[in-house]
Amino acid sequence: MLTTAADTLPVRVRGFDRDRFIAAKRHYQIPHAFLFHGEAGLGKLLTAKQYAAILLCQTQTGELPCGHCQSCRLQRSDTHPDYQIISPEEAGHAIKIDQIRSLIAFLQQTPQQAGFRVVIITPADALNHAAANSLLKLLEEPGENTVLFLVSDRLMSLPATLKSRCVKLPFLTPAHDTGRVWPTEGHDADFLLGLRDVFLGTLSPVELAQRLNTAEIDLLLVTWLSALHSLICHLHGIDREIPPSWAPLLNLPAQPLKTSQTLFHFIDALYQARSLVQSSVNPNQLLLLENLLIKWYRITQS
Ligand SMILES: [Zn+2]
Repeated sequence: MLTTAADTLPVRVRGFDRDRFIAAKRHYQIPHAFLFHGEAGLGKLLTAKQYAAILLCQTQTGELPCGHCQSCRLQRSDTHPDYQIISPEEAGHAIKIDQIRSLIAFLQQTPQQAGFRVVIITPADALNHAAANSLLKLLEEPGENTVLFLVSDRLMSLPATLKSRCVKLPFLTPAHDTGRVWPTEGHDADFLLGLRDVFLGTLSPVELAQRLNTAEIDLLLVTWLSALHSLICHLHGIDREIPPSWAPLLNLPAQPLKTSQTLFHFIDALYQARSLVQSSVNPNQLLLLENLLIKWYRITQS
């Protein structure tokens, strides 16, 4: 399964957005451990998988991940020999020390494909005390070309020692101090209907941008991102609860969304827009929306 580039906030944009991450791979300047944290539903695990795919892909030039090489195919089916996802053996239970010991043994072996070895630990807050301690030692000496992604909805539950050994990339919901709340059921339905219509070519991007010109832009962007992540999960058969108001997006033609690299670039563009909105630049909302909606429509043309 795949993959999407995902969230970013100012920190991530300045640090490791997708383009920067790809450049860092090419120069072998990837940190050993990342911690993706933030509320559930913002695409942290999907981002980790996308970044894993970028690291494991064997293609030297062009798009990363290429989606076609042997590594990409193996990663997509979670069977790449240099790739592991560590999760609780039973839902709702802890990640146990034996799992981390097995991981350490795995990382002591020579890589099968002479490239990166990638580990995703999700949710990292499920590590029990002994497992977390064992992981700490691993984070101190993870070995060459080994990259770990820790994913957590509950940053506060993680030991400080663990957090301090990772590059932390926050996935933020809209700022709470705006007094606005996460879109609730129904409020976002009109917006998503509009997105569907633009995607299908029955509504002009410019017209929808004008309709949305007075809406809270950051909420729109977060809703859009969150809906896309859920949609991608849905398309790839990952069980995920999708709010009924997002149903308009579920009926979109799946193929362009499932296969297009353009979609990943589009998601990057949404994150960049968020970064701009949260900066002091104060961008022209109408232009920003028009540009995004035109790109959104063009996904179907790619
Ligand atoms: Zn590839």
